[in-house]
Amino acid sequence: MAETKQNIVMFPYMGQGHIIPLLALALRIEKTNKYTITFVNTPLNIKKLTSSLPPNSSIHLLELPFNSSDHGLPPDAENMDSLPYHQFITLFQASMSLKPHFRKLVSNLIHEQNGEKPVCIISDMFLGWCKEIAQEFGIFHAIFISCSAFGSACYYSLWLNLPHRNTDSDEFMLPDFPEASTFHVTQLSEVLRVADASDPTTAFRRKELISPWSKADGILFNTVEEIDKLGLMYFSRKLGRQVWPIGPVLLAPGSQARSRRDFGISPEECKKWLDKKPSFSVLYVSFGSQNTISPSNMIQMAMALEACGKFFIWVVRPPLGFDINSEFKANEWLPEGFEKRIKDSGRGLLVHKWAPQVEILSHKSLSAFLSHCGWNSLVEALSYGVPILGWPMVAEQFYNVKLLEKEIGVCAEVARGRSCEVFHEEIVAKIEMVMNESEKGKEIRKKVLKVKEIIKNALKDEENFMGSSMKAMDQFLDACINEKKKIQP
Ligand code: UDP
Repeated sequence: MAETKQNIVMFPYMGQGHIIPLLALALRIEKTNKYTITFVNTPLNIKKLTSSLPPNSSIHLLELPFNSSDHGLPPDAENMDSLPYHQFITLFQASMSLKPHFRKLVSNLIHEQNGEKPVCIISDMFLGWCKEIAQEFGIFHAIFISCSAFGSACYYSLWLNLPHRNTDSDEFMLPDFPEASTFHVTQLSEVLRVADASDPTTAFRRKELISPWSKADGILFNTVEEIDKLGLMYFSRKLGRQVWPIGPVLLAPGSQARSRRDFGISPEECKKWLDKKPSFSVLYVSFGSQNTISPSNMIQMAMALEACGKFFIWVVRPPLGFDINSEFKANEWLPEGFEKRIKDSGRGLLVHKWAPQVEILSHKSLSAFLSHCGWNSLVEALSYGVPILGWPMVAEQFYNVKLLEKEIGVCAEVARGRSCEVFHEEIVAKIEMVMNESEKGKEIRKKVLKVKEIIKNALKDEENFMGSSMKAMDQFLDACINEKKKIQP
C-alpha cells in the first residue's frame, strides 16, 4: 500500500528575495515525491505564483486575507518590490495582521486531513511568529533564512547589540562575533546607523523580526556549508539550535519565465542579444528587486558603462526620489542620448525594472555581475561561476560583500550604500580590474570557478555521493518526521 504523503507548510515573506528561494525549495522537496506542499501568501503574491508553477506541480497555493490599504500602504502593495524603501517597515508591521489568518489556515488544514498534522511549518526569517502557532498545534517549526549565514549573523548581532552606538569611533566589533572582525559605520544601513534601543521601530524589529529566530526548532539557510562556516557556527553556538545549510535553492533557468509577466525584456529576446556576444564579455548590472540608487549615481553608472567599453545589460529601476512604480524615463534619469547611443552601437541592453536574471547569469557570454549583493543574486552568480562587483545598499548586503571579498575572494567592492557619492572613474577602474587580464581579476576568476565547483558538489545527490547541502536537507526532513513521531507516536 502506498504510504500517505506528509504535508509541509511553507510561508515566505512578501518579497521576491524571499518568495523565489522558498518556491525553489518547495519544488526541490516536491521532487522527493514523499511530501505534499502547502505554499501560503497574500492574495496578489499567490495570484502571481499560480503561473510560476510547472504544469505538473501539485504544490497547493493558499492565500491569506490581506488588504494593504488597511495598513496605510498603497493599494495592492503586497510585495517589497512595489514599495519605496521607507515603507518596508510598514509592510513588516502589516504582516503581523496575518497571524490569526495563518492560525485559522493551519487549523483548517488539520481538520481537512482528519486530524493529521503537517509534519513541519517552514516560515520565513521575518515571520518567526509562526512558531507560536506551530507550537500551539504541536508542529515542528523551522525558519528559512534566505541570506548568507555570515550576513545574517552580523545583522542579528548588530540589531541586538547596537555596538556602533556605544563608541565614538567609526570602527567597531561585534561583542558576540569577534570572528567577523572589524566593521565600519559605512557598512550600516541608514536605519541601523541611527537605531536606538528606546525607539519603538527598533523595539519592533528586535522583538518581532529578529528575536524569534532563537525560538524556532531549527534554521534552514540558503547557503553552502563549505563557504559560510563562520556564520553557521555563530548561530549554532548562539542559539543552540540545529542549523541546516541546504543551499543554494535556485529556480532553474526557464522557470522564472513562467513566474513573471512583467519582464522588461522577454527571456528569448535577452538570450538572442547575449548569443551574439563573445564568451565572457558581458557585464550584468542589477540592484535586485527592491533597491535603487540616487539620480546622480545613476548618471555616474551610465557614464561608467559607456566609458568602460564593455558589453552590458543594465536593469534600471526608478532612482531614489522617483515613484518606484513609475514608467521608464530615460530622458530624466540617464545622460542625454545615452539610451540611443548604446542601442545604436549594440553595446548595451537597458532592461526596465525586471530581467530574467537566472537566464542571464547562466549564459556563456556573461563575464561579471555588478550587484547590490542580495544573497539570492550572489548564490545565483556563484553557481554559474560569475565574479561579483559589489555595491551593497542595505541590510545584510554589506556583510555578504565582506564574506565574498575578504573570506572567499570572489568579489571586488565598488561602492557602499544607496546614496553614497560615486564617481564613474572609480566604477570603471573596478570593472576593468575584474573583467580585464589584471592579476587581481585572474585571481578572482580562478576562485569563483572553485566556488562554482564547491556548490555543484554540495548539490550532488548521487547513489555513491551526496553533497553537504543535500545531506543537510535529508537530515532536516528526518528531524521533522522524528519530531512528529515523538509528538504523535
Ligand atoms: N531578480 C530577477 N530579475 C530582476 C531582479 C531580481 O529575476 O530584474 C531575482 C533574482 O534572480 C533573485 C531575486 O530576484 O532571485 C532577488 O533576490 P536578492 O536576494 O538578490 O535581492 P533582493 O531583491 O531581495 O534585495
